[in-house]
Amino acid sequence: MDRLVLDDLELKGKRVLTRVDFNTPIADGKVADDTRIQAALPTIKKVTGEGGRLILMSHLGRPKGEVNEKFSLQPVAARLGELLGSGVKMAPDCIGENVEKLVADLADGDVLLLENTRFHKGETANDDEFAQQLAEHGEVYVDDAFGAVHRAHASTVGVTKHIKECAAGYLLQEEVRNLTRLLEEPEKPYVVILGGAKVSDKLKVIRNLVTKVSSILIGGGMSYTFLKASGAKVGDSLLDDERVAMAGNALLVAKNPHPHKRFDFVLPLDHIAAKAGDHSQFRVNESVEIPAGWQGVDIGPRTVASFMEKIHDASSVFWNGPMGIFENDNFAKGTTDIALAVARATERGAFTVVGGGDSIAAIEKAGVKEQISHVSTGGGASLEFMAGIDLPGIAALSKAKKKAPPAKEAVAE
Ligand code: AMP
Repeated sequence: MDRLVLDDLELKGKRVLTRVDFNTPIADGKVADDTRIQAALPTIKKVTGEGGRLILMSHLGRPKGEVNEKFSLQPVAARLGELLGSGVKMAPDCIGENVEKLVADLADGDVLLLENTRFHKGETANDDEFAQQLAEHGEVYVDDAFGAVHRAHASTVGVTKHIKECAAGYLLQEEVRNLTRLLEEPEKPYVVILGGAKVSDKLKVIRNLVTKVSSILIGGGMSYTFLKASGAKVGDSLLDDERVAMAGNALLVAKNPHPHKRFDFVLPLDHIAAKAGDHSQFRVNESVEIPAGWQGVDIGPRTVASFMEKIHDASSVFWNGPMGIFENDNFAKGTTDIALAVARATERGAFTVVGGGDSIAAIEKAGVKEQISHVSTGGGASLEFMAGIDLPGIAALSKAKKKAPPAKEAVAE
């Protein structure tokens, strides 16, 4: 990447302010899933191993600028301490005199976790005074929070204005490397699978990938906006009325015989449909058309087969978003089958990337998480990256150092 990276920084004895994504689920005062903490360990160990004084900061949940114990990072400090096998100090806040004292008392190799940055309104508002107070904790800054780089907040962007050297951590670098592979040099056939409820963010991905993909498979709630645009009846299924026209444009681009834009747009052929207002009544809807009073809640068996055929032949796969309301076991089969198909494609040598909390939950539930080439820690960030959007948290980092020109070879006299 064209930004300064962790290995470029002098860490010994330095206060290293590091933004991580510790936005983890908490249940009964404990971390329920430590994936994001584990993902930050390489950067954490590098800083402490080199004798840096590590000050970690993160948000957790949406406390909306107010202190709320429910969103405290305390349980994360406990879990991180277990993973590191050494104590992690927990600060009572992320700014203020008490925190400054804790930072000043750090010894080389120590780890201090600041309390939730979103306990202050200045975080999401990217308030400059708040950002400056955060920045005072560090001599150098590291961003390893891929899941938050699409947000221009004080801890991801504001701080960088007040610290000279701002570098990408290992996780951030790895995410960028893997996603760039799918943007710049995807091996073909390249299959993109999109699902879930929201259409808007995924339309941008489609627009950016039309010249690169071989097939785009659309399932889940968003597919009904595309089906409607294609002229099909979608009954009472989820619909984004405002985006039907845009979805229609995307379908037209796929039909356009321009040689560089030739790709298959694959929509559901059949569905699992449930009675609107009473999801305990459901059936296979063999036709693409859904009658009034019924909602499409999962892709049907013929759709699963047609998607699997594409995934089977793929050399590269990007997947974001479930194929149905998979939280309900009755409507989870489409998503699970796709998870298994993506895992099998990886076994056959395809490069596969899965992003988004729901798709990750699906590969975990199907027991195939370890078989995926890269599981992105940022759902929203990975979609924006794939849409070709400049992510503010990355753009704010210092430019990469110019490599010194190779020394001139001594010419024998
Ligand atoms: P997103 O955040 O856009 O990826 O959407 C994820 C959500 O989409 C999940 O909570 C799913 O339950 C929901 N979803 C998937 N398929 C459907 C569908 N056919 N109808 C309504 N919601 C759906």
